[in-house]
Amino acid sequence: MHTAFITHADCARHKMGAGHPECPERLGAISDHLLSKGLLNYMTPYDAPLATEEQLARAHSSLYVREIIEAAPTEGYCQIDHDTSMNPFTVQAALRAAGAAVLATDLVLAGKVATAFCCVRPPGHHAERAAAMGFCFFNNVVVGIRHALDVHGLQRVALIDFDVHHGNGSEDILSGDDRVIMCSIFERGLYPFSGENPTSANMINVPLPARSGGDKFRDAVTGHWLPALEAFQPQLIYISAGFDAHRDDDMGNLGLVEADYAWVTRQIMMIAQRHCQGRVISCLEGGYEFGALARSAAAHVKVLIGVD
Ligand SMILES: [Zn+2]
Repeated sequence: MHTAFITHADCARHKMGAGHPECPERLGAISDHLLSKGLLNYMTPYDAPLATEEQLARAHSSLYVREIIEAAPTEGYCQIDHDTSMNPFTVQAALRAAGAAVLATDLVLAGKVATAFCCVRPPGHHAERAAAMGFCFFNNVVVGIRHALDVHGLQRVALIDFDVHHGNGSEDILSGDDRVIMCSIFERGLYPFSGENPTSANMINVPLPARSGGDKFRDAVTGHWLPALEAFQPQLIYISAGFDAHRDDDMGNLGLVEADYAWVTRQIMMIAQRHCQGRVISCLEGGYEFGALARSAAAHVKVLIGVD
């Protein structure tokens, strides 16, 4: 068993209202599909622990962490922005989602698993140092990265983000942190309308026009990400794994398919095998069309497990 599957039932209790695309059924779609394809047989399951305020404060301001925890309503919804809200279970889910990235980091760095897939929600990559937005409250993957750097003492960590939306929150927190290189691809002109001009040299941003398709996506990875990653020689690689660039997903228009997610994961694994004993931690971000999400996540996980 070389791959961890980290999730928690609490992650399905956070809801943002009827008809909201970032819904609990997303997680069930993925885990049901992994089960039916036999892929869970190759993974060790773990319950995501609650992240502590100290762990969250490595990515967010302590004041912000308290504000989110205290904003939780006892009933109904508390609106954060026009498409992001909290119900009474949101804080617990958000703490589990960030805690999953911390646990994945501990497991991988202890050598218990080589790779991990955190099947959690709410997602994280739009959450800035002091702002929740775009369905995100705590930046799960960055909480994990800072845990690797500040607690485990790693010196070079890479973050790959292939969600169709720019990971503005991750860039906000990690910009100028020379221990990290962030490589992202996102659709130009889409929410959150950022990333066109990287805020510092450790940001490798590749905006792609709508309808780019798999070939242009692969060219961008080969031309921009891989040389930067080779030069950086990461000791651990994290992935913000959003699957909303899939052609069946209405959130974006890049037109990727399952084979593109398998391909990009293979490129990342090859870098990881060369530089960091194959250590890769993947955290779910977007992906809203259940069938495409489930099949794309399975194609990605298959490569993490090494059975593709
Ligand atoms: Zn997205």
